[in-house]
Amino acid sequence: MARAWHLKSRPSGMPTSENFELKDIDLRELADGQVRVRNRWLSVDPYMRGRMNDVKSYVPPFQVGEPLEGGAVGEVVESKADGYAVGDLVQHMAGWRDEAVVQSRTAQKLPNLGAAPQQFLGVLGVTGATAYFGLIDAAAAKAGDIVFVSAAAGAVGSVVVQVAKAKGMTVIGSAGGPEKCEFVRSLGADHVIDYKAGSILKGLAEAAPDGIDVYFDNVGGDHLDAAFALARNNARFAICGMIEGYNQREPMAFRFIQRVIAARIQLKGFIVFDYFPRLPEFYAEMAPWVANGTVKSRETVVDGLENTPDAFLGLFRGENTGKMLVRL
Ligand code: NDP
Repeated sequence: MARAWHLKSRPSGMPTSENFELKDIDLRELADGQVRVRNRWLSVDPYMRGRMNDVKSYVPPFQVGEPLEGGAVGEVVESKADGYAVGDLVQHMAGWRDEAVVQSRTAQKLPNLGAAPQQFLGVLGVTGATAYFGLIDAAAAKAGDIVFVSAAAGAVGSVVVQVAKAKGMTVIGSAGGPEKCEFVRSLGADHVIDYKAGSILKGLAEAAPDGIDVYFDNVGGDHLDAAFALARNNARFAICGMIEGYNQREPMAFRFIQRVIAARIQLKGFIVFDYFPRLPEFYAEMAPWVANGTVKSRETVVDGLENTPDAFLGLFRGENTGKMLVRL
């Protein structure tokens, strides 16, 4: 019998294990064009928290009583779809479960890039593409820029640090705690700020006395405010995520937001899906970097379908370094 995590109730503030329920699901017969996939790796991502609210956004909300979804990599165990054979490794969106029946057009065979399968959920997947296009396109970052990135020890942030270094930028990363800061330093960051050890505003002012050209925002709140305070003229901000606000009921407040005008700061929110037509460009540059070690891939692995909600909740407790994954 296959099992899937369902949304039992909508969280208010920080979710708890009570909001999730693991239930058996029907293993229906395959129709033409479908494949049965045994999942090997599941992705848990901060954006899933937004889908647990009953609000309209760029993806529809999860429904109470229905299975959750998310990125997954698995092996085809039965196929009624042309071009898909038993044993093929595919990525698809029917995660949070051990087995799935999916339309083959929504399952991509893993490109043959010599990478480990789970890397297609991380550095060579949506995570890596978010970092790459957010930095290069949304923030229009270029060699010589001083780049500040928050959650720099996380999945997206750790790739931003490395891509920025590979492209000749000066990088300031922030992360929570000495071990994560050491990790960010090991990726090549020029300055690292432990935001849990003191004020992020003070830390950024010390790391960038002449200001910053680019801010890659994963956190929002005080981090974004510090970036407003330290932005140079014509600075570009890629607004990727604001995890600090995902579980908060109070709105974020900004002391320095008026600097957007005087410093002519450009704020660009982006959604990685919009860049999917450009994935070949991403693979062409990222795959050699991963293969030759220019970009290193770090994962925090939680074992067992039973522990998927805990892995997800761990993102908000800072329990991951690099990409948080569940291995089945
Ligand atoms: P991460 O791997 O960075 O995991 C989350 C990390 O955020 C934690 O490890 C923790 O690191 C940090 N964090 C958690 N809560 C807080 C808080 N209250 N204040 C400050 N830091 C906090 O996740 P991802 O790399 O997957 O995602 C990073 C961001 O990018 C998220 O905001 C996500 O929503 C966004 N995103 C946006 C996409 C888009 O298309 N726009 C696509 C993918 C992701 P620490 O211990 O250092 O605090």
